[in-house]
Amino acid sequence: MSALTPLPEALQHILAAAPLPPPAEPCPLPDARGRVLAEAVTSPIAVPGADNSAMDGYALRADDAGLALPVTQRIVAGSCGEPLEPGTAARIFTGAPLPPGADAVAMQEDCTLRDGVLNIRTGLLPGENVRPRGQDLAAGAEVLPAGWRLRPQDLGLLASVGRASVDVYRRLRVAILSTGDELVEPGSGELAPGMLYNSNRYTLAGLLAALGVEVVDGGIVPDDPGATRRALQDATAGSDLVITSGGVSVGEEDHVRAQVLRLGELSLWKLAIKPGKPLAFGHIGNVPFLGLPGNPTSVYVTFNLVARPFLLKMQGATSLVPPVLRARAGFSVDRPGGRCDYLRVSLEQTVDGPVARRFDNQSSGVLSSVCYSQALAVVPAGATVTAGDPVDILLLDLF
Ligand code: AMP
Ligand code: MG
Repeated sequence: MSALTPLPEALQHILAAAPLPPPAEPCPLPDARGRVLAEAVTSPIAVPGADNSAMDGYALRADDAGLALPVTQRIVAGSCGEPLEPGTAARIFTGAPLPPGADAVAMQEDCTLRDGVLNIRTGLLPGENVRPRGQDLAAGAEVLPAGWRLRPQDLGLLASVGRASVDVYRRLRVAILSTGDELVEPGSGELAPGMLYNSNRYTLAGLLAALGVEVVDGGIVPDDPGATRRALQDATAGSDLVITSGGVSVGEEDHVRAQVLRLGELSLWKLAIKPGKPLAFGHIGNVPFLGLPGNPTSVYVTFNLVARPFLLKMQGATSLVPPVLRARAGFSVDRPGGRCDYLRVSLEQTVDGPVARRFDNQSSGVLSSVCYSQALAVVPAGATVTAGDPVDILLLDLF
């Protein structure tokens, strides 16, 4: 309990305990953004379905490019031409299928047309300005694998092979509880001395919604053992996961750990990350439970580093972690820390690439450090940094 646990170790334990994804259900394409594919989609057709013109111009045999060519037909997108006789050309527009016999397209800018006869000012190679059949997807090719989280461009790709609906995993329901006697909901009046507005609820609900999760808000839970136990128990009803903020330290007013232990089982870690030391994971009955720290910045960081990959795995997704990028440090760290530090930074674009500028106040209570930054710069435990050193970067908006 007293030693610090490196994040990868805790994450491995937590991910191994992720339940199987929920059952699949059909989902109309317009509603499928952010959902995770439960089927491997193959294409019944080639895309594009025929060799077609990449330009407005003239279709011909590339070998005929040096000749004067009578223009014998006109082919627009959505129509099909007649077979092209050798020594002739067809007027053709972008996206229109090449007529049988043609193997290249001359751009209209390179052509002169006089009395229905075409002359081309340049040579042409076979295939020039032609989009070959199946260059995007061959018939029978896998379009997207199961476990793929659908983005707008993926919906476009699925539509391009004719899919109007896809099988996706059922949406997860996640209950959130905000623990703390000091918490007041914004909108419910002015703050009495010692009180503060519940911000974690909004950060968490938004992060969950961005993952396509249905959020069940269990509200504020007072620092009381009975109230905490009842709220935890209630939160499990119909939920795939319960997430709490606060109350997981080992202080006298931290009741979450003890009450989860009464209702189920739990591991508590002091994670070797900054911000975000205490983190609990367990089960209430058979519903997984994640206890995040209370500090608003710690909530954001631990959600993204731990809860997000866990939820993605529960959703059936196969890609669980964001890409790690590189920037040059615009700061220095002289004293090595005992924990891996996720510094809130802004990225300044310079001719030598991005430079990470450290936000002044890195306190775990300062939520504006997340809002006024663009990325987290990762400084490993035990490391020092000299300005100009390369540092790993996690982009906040990719989270
Ligand atoms: P705890 O882990 O419960 O001791 O909380 C750590 C710190 O986070 C305390 O300063 C709390 O006031 C603060 N905190 C806990 N929950 C919230 C919340 N929902 N919104 C804003 N701050 C919170
Ligand atoms: Mg508390």
